[in-house]
Amino acid sequence: MAKALPTRAEDYSEWYNELVKRADLAENSAVRGCMVIKPYGFSIWEKMQRALDDMFKETGHQNAYFPLFIPKSYLSKEASHVAGFAKECAVVTHYRLKNAEDGSGIIVDPDAKLEEELIVRPTSETVIWSTYKNWIQSYRDLPLLINQWANVVRWEMRTRLFLRTAEFLWQEGHTAHSTEKEAREETRQMLEVYATFAEEWMAMPVIRGTKSANERFAGADDTLCIEAMMQDGKALQAGTSHFLGQNFAKAFDVQFLNKQNTLEYVWGTSWGLSTRMMGALVMAHSDDAGLVIPPKLAPIQVVIVPIYRSDEQLDAITDKVKPLMAELKKAGISVKYDNSDANKPGWKFAEYELRGVPVRLAMGARDLENGTVEIARRDLKTKETVSFDGLTEHISALLDDIQRSIYQKALAFREANTFYVDTFDQFKEQIEKGGFIMAHWDGTPETEDAIKDATKATIRCIPLDAPEEAGTCIFTGKPSNKRVVFARAY
Ligand code: AMP
Repeated sequence: MAKALPTRAEDYSEWYNELVKRADLAENSAVRGCMVIKPYGFSIWEKMQRALDDMFKETGHQNAYFPLFIPKSYLSKEASHVAGFAKECAVVTHYRLKNAEDGSGIIVDPDAKLEEELIVRPTSETVIWSTYKNWIQSYRDLPLLINQWANVVRWEMRTRLFLRTAEFLWQEGHTAHSTEKEAREETRQMLEVYATFAEEWMAMPVIRGTKSANERFAGADDTLCIEAMMQDGKALQAGTSHFLGQNFAKAFDVQFLNKQNTLEYVWGTSWGLSTRMMGALVMAHSDDAGLVIPPKLAPIQVVIVPIYRSDEQLDAITDKVKPLMAELKKAGISVKYDNSDANKPGWKFAEYELRGVPVRLAMGARDLENGTVEIARRDLKTKETVSFDGLTEHISALLDDIQRSIYQKALAFREANTFYVDTFDQFKEQIEKGGFIMAHWDGTPETEDAIKDATKATIRCIPLDAPEEAGTCIFTGKPSNKRVVFARAY
């Protein structure tokens, strides 16, 4: 028997690391900070991709692909962009290896030095805007609405499977517009796409907000984000949408002739969501027995386990199960029949619980006689015995109910762990216990830094829907007109 998972209460961080590995989502690789995404994990990521990609297409975007390598000179064209990313860039300097003359093995060939060093993309604004220069001449070429699915590399020092890796998979949207208004609307629209994805697909409530200057994307005028609460009360930035102003257009000289026939710089946006969402999915919903996957993202939504003593019993169960599977598939429900005799039913139950399969059916000889089946739901761990008649409709409704109920549970958890605080003493006390703190802030980076130094908490976002409310900054006592969300974050 494998050792039990550590519980969340015992060691949240170990629970997460172990669960990701045991549920076959991903594992570490030989290169620190890089991970192998295993088939089960990748099939969840594929479902995420599908849902997002459909929404990108519905909002008028097209996919394209840009190169992995960026000439070093490109990166330095936008000053704040390079300043933000310089610390974590992987750089290619040579293009060949050779055998060492002293026989000591393979070495980098000093004669194969690149004339211009190449950066492995940490994000693609520079390479894309250098391309847009050739694609955009007139207002007729706008808007340009492009997305790419790709891997990027940021040489992160403190890494953790999915949540923060040196190489990660993501999508990055890069759009170009003729007016500031349109670019700002695009930034907001894509934030809404991310929020819809988080809430409706991942069953994870999010706060939509603006980043403070400290947390803003390097090269953006404004960064919008969605922030989610994990079960240890910490925050996770789940997606970002940037208003780039004309910064990259100016850096790469991308101008267009407007309707009045005068040249103007183009307005830009970019937006990204990564495999970090896989980590969010685990941390937001799973429990001490394993993954809890919302049905809409579950690679297997229903597993059927036969319980039998003889081959005849198994055959009789299989005869009953086959038409049911066909019916479930027709209803768009993914189903697996685990009739392997390598493992006992109890082992299978634990395995599918660990993997977060939302619904488990068990069928034995007595069920055959009675025309019933036992249904267990993963999220609440409840069981019921139901009639075989109308089972497809029952399961379909159950999956919807599970999706809703996982969301409601996460929302209730966030609400129970959100605190309104008015003094710095209360703030310091509360932050140790975790959760989101809604507090007044004077709007300056200096105050945010001072609070971070004292408490390790950062401003997660200035919520878009926060009501105006006169108050005073918890740290400096200066006036403030809105509460912002503070938390410790991943
Ligand atoms: P950014 O380009 O910095 O706005 O990040 C875009 C998206 O990628 C955000 O949703 C981040 O949460 C995510 N992200 C940033 N860094 C990492 C990382 N090291 N590993 C995984 N996801 C990341």
